[in-house]
Amino acid sequence: MRIAWAAFVLLLAAFPALAQNVKITPIGSHPGELCANDRAIVFEDPTGVRFLYDAAHNVTGGNDPRLGAIHLVLLSHMHGDHVGDLKLKAPGEGTCANSARVPAPNSTTAEVVAEKNAVLVTTRAMAGFVHNKVGAVRGSGNKPMDFCSSLAVTVPVPAACSSRIDLGGVFKAQAEGAQQGVEFTIVYSEHVNDVAPSLLSKARQDLLKADGAQLGYGPPVGFVVKFTNGLVAYLSSDTAVFGDMKMVISDFHKANLAVINLGPNPGLFQSGAYAINDLLKPASVIFTHVNEVATEGGKLRANTQTAALMKQVKPPAHLAISERTMEFDGKGKCVSGC
Ligand SMILES: [Zn+2]
Ligand SMILES: [Zn+2]
Repeated sequence: MRIAWAAFVLLLAAFPALAQNVKITPIGSHPGELCANDRAIVFEDPTGVRFLYDAAHNVTGGNDPRLGAIHLVLLSHMHGDHVGDLKLKAPGEGTCANSARVPAPNSTTAEVVAEKNAVLVTTRAMAGFVHNKVGAVRGSGNKPMDFCSSLAVTVPVPAACSSRIDLGGVFKAQAEGAQQGVEFTIVYSEHVNDVAPSLLSKARQDLLKADGAQLGYGPPVGFVVKFTNGLVAYLSSDTAVFGDMKMVISDFHKANLAVINLGPNPGLFQSGAYAINDLLKPASVIFTHVNEVATEGGKLRANTQTAALMKQVKPPAHLAISERTMEFDGKGKCVSGC
């Protein structure tokens, strides 16, 4: 036994990268591709802490077998394609441009939080919405979901709860027996935060419609996640280029991996090269939320907006290919699966 253990320790010393990588697995609509509606990504820290970043339209429900253990669910904002007003019918169904989806009246975010008894990491304003929806998933007679009792938890938590932090707030999640935890900081995203109308009550929908109004839930957000191996990932969510990318995310948090949402609405196809090369300056980039069919047979399609941006970006840029696991070391370098 002792010899086996010594051999194991020697092996770890010889291949530290194997033991200390963060695993990043996009969960999209079509296995092996980066498709128009893809947003959801599962992250796994070397200590075993696992979280889902935006359930989106990409899961088939809280019990989607591709999720595995999920200790935390991050929610960036209330647009239907993030909080999840629709769920995926099945991986591979529909086209890569328009995946087959069905309504999710309680949101895919609430479905996953309820199914996994997970910690919801988001602002307090958005947490209130999800608390109610988790209640609706579980039905009456169950204890209402509430904020976690502290800003540092051991996962898995005994009952679903939310982070009770706002912009700039830090929440920590540690695996049982681990020496260190994973740190989540909420950062700003230069976007809007209107809720998908279909997730509201009929009465509220009618009122809003009468005034041509949208209902906002406070600021939309991105995240900075500090993993135990030293990787610092910036999860941009939907955002325009903005000064915090340099002053807060790069200079202060020293993010070495940027996971960037593209798509036409926030303009990053035009400003993305400046945002990445001059403001964020990460060691690597991952692109998702492309709102176009970015790949075919797993390969980047020429004549796409994604391909045009990839050419302008200085650090190595990787595509969030569904169900392909990438591994990153503490310095932000992809060491496997890219
Ligand atoms: Zn959005
Ligand atoms: Zn979006």
